[in-house]
Amino acid sequence: MLHAARTKIVATVGPACESVAQLSNLIQLGVDVFRMNMAHGDRSRHQAMFDAISSARDQTAIDVGILVDLAGPKIRLGDLFGDNLNLATGDHVAFVRGNVANSSHELTCTYEPLVDELEVHQQILLSDGLIRLQVESKSSDRVECRVIDGGVLRGRQGVNVPGANFSAPALDAVDLDNARWAVSLGVEYLSLSFVRRPEEILQLKDLIHAAGGHSQVVAKIEKREALDCLDEIVKATDGVMVARGDLGVEIEVQQTPIQQKRIVAACRKFGKPVIVATQMLESMHTNRRPTRAEVSDVANAILDGTDACMLSGETAIGNYPTDAVLMMNRIMIETEQAYLDREDSRYPAIEPTTNITRAMVQGAGRIAKQLSAKAVVIVADSISAARYKSQARDFIPTIALSGHRHVVRGLALYWGIIPYYAAPEQIDGLPKIKAFIAERAKTHWQLQDGDRVLLVIDSPDNIGEHDWMTVLTVGRN
Ligand code: PGA
Ligand code: MN
Repeated sequence: MLHAARTKIVATVGPACESVAQLSNLIQLGVDVFRMNMAHGDRSRHQAMFDAISSARDQTAIDVGILVDLAGPKIRLGDLFGDNLNLATGDHVAFVRGNVANSSHELTCTYEPLVDELEVHQQILLSDGLIRLQVESKSSDRVECRVIDGGVLRGRQGVNVPGANFSAPALDAVDLDNARWAVSLGVEYLSLSFVRRPEEILQLKDLIHAAGGHSQVVAKIEKREALDCLDEIVKATDGVMVARGDLGVEIEVQQTPIQQKRIVAACRKFGKPVIVATQMLESMHTNRRPTRAEVSDVANAILDGTDACMLSGETAIGNYPTDAVLMMNRIMIETEQAYLDREDSRYPAIEPTTNITRAMVQGAGRIAKQLSAKAVVIVADSISAARYKSQARDFIPTIALSGHRHVVRGLALYWGIIPYYAAPEQIDGLPKIKAFIAERAKTHWQLQDGDRVLLVIDSPDNIGEHDWMTVLTVGRN
C-alpha cells in the first residue's frame, strides 16, 4: 500500500468494465476514482452503474471515489436521417429546427436555439474536430453550411462552435436532476462540463450545499472562456479537469499542451487537485500496448504536477481496459521515481502562513524526511488537512485516517494520499489512535518494527486545527 503510485488514476465506466468483477479487478490494479459519464445512458443505467461500483467497493474493501460527470452545455447532433452520413469536402448540409431530419443532408441538434444563434462565416466542428463546416447563409428555419473538411458523420456526436457565445445555461433540467441524484447517493465528486465562468461552479456548489451533500465540484476546462478567467474558476472550484478532448477542438489543438501546463500550474498554485484527461492511452482501445507518444504524454502530465490521469474510452468501451490501467500505473511508478530524484529542488518554499494545519502537516513531511520516517499519518474529520499535505508533493507516504466514509472516499483524487477508514470508535482519542496504528502498521501498511511514523491530529484543545504532532516507532508505541 505504501508503495503504490502517488499519482491517481480516474477510469471511466462503460460496457467494457461495468460488471462487479471487472470493476473490482480494476480497483485492485490501481483505479482510485471511477467516472460515470452522464452524457450517455439513462437513470436506470446510471443507477445500475453506481450499484455495481458500490458492490465492487464492498468486495475489495477499497474506498475508491465516484465522479459523476454532468454533460453541462454540451451540444450534440440529433439522430441522422440514415445511419451514417458520408460528407465530402464541398458538400452542403443544413441545420434545421426541431429534432427530425427530413433528408440525409439535414442535421438537428440538442441545443434548440442553435439555428438562431449561428452566424454566417462561423465554423462548426463535428466528430472531435475531424469534420469542419462553415455557415454560408441563414433563413428563419435553416442554416446552410458548406463542408470544408469531410468525413463520416454519426448521430449524437458532439458539436463544437469555437468562439461562439451561446446562451445555454450551465446546468439544464437534466443536469440539475442528475446532480441531485448524485448528491443524494453521496458521490464524492461532481464534474461540470464546458464551464465558462466561476459563477457556474458556485451555482453547483449551492445546489450541493442546499441538498446537504459533501460532493466536491470538479470544473472541466474545455472552453476558451474558461481559460480567460482560469484563476477565478480554480479559486471557486474544489478540483479541475483538463478536458483535452473538447478543449482541443474549442481552441487550436497545438495550443493544448501549453494550456495543460498552465491549468496544472494554476491548480498547484491554489492547492486544488487536477485531472489530465482524454486520449492518454487512446490507441489501447484496440491495442494491447500504447504508442511511445502516449507513454510520454502520461509521463509529462505527471512531471507537470498533475494529481490524476484519466482513462476514457480506454476503460469504458475499449478492448483492453485492464491492460490500460496496468500500463498507466506502470508509467506512473516509473516516472515518479524521476520526480522523486528532483524532490529537494521541488519542495515548496517555507512560506509564512497563519494556517496551523497547513504548517503542521507540511512540516510533518519535512520532519519525516529528516528522521527517515516511513509515513505520515493524519487523523481527520474533513479533507482539508490531507489536502494541504498532498500539495507539498513530498513523497512521504501519507495515510489519511478518518471515521467518515465521505472523507476517505473524498481524498481518493489527491496526489500521494492513502485514504484509510477506521470505525469512529477505533480512533476516538490519542490512546486508541496509537493502538490502531500499532495494530495496522505491520499487518496492513507493510511497516516493520523500528520504523518511524509521524502522527498529526486535531487535538481536543484546539478543535478544527491540526495542532498536535508526535513521532511513533512501530513495535514500541
Ligand atoms: P468528455 O470530457 O469526455 O465528457 O467530453 C472530457 C474531454 O472533453 O476531454
Ligand atoms: Mn468534454
